[in-house]
Amino acid sequence: MKCKVNKEKCISCGTCIVLAEASFKWDEDGKAVEVVPPGDDEQTIKDAAGACPVGAIEIEE
Ligand code: SF4
Repeated sequence: MKCKVNKEKCISCGTCIVLAEASFKWDEDGKAVEVVPPGDDEQTIKDAAGACPVGAIEIEE
């Protein structure tokens, strides 16, 4: 499974980083970015993606 943050959509709320801190981090421009490889289990990443208020996290199975 791969995940990717669409930076155009990200509003820097920090939810994904709180929910899946081993899979998302802050980029130098203040947007979230995926950690490669992600360090959380799939369900945690999916939950974080689902919690993004703007749907900026794309999941590829
Ligand atoms: S939850 Fe969505 S909007 Fe918030 S920091 Fe993560 S990617 Fe950006």
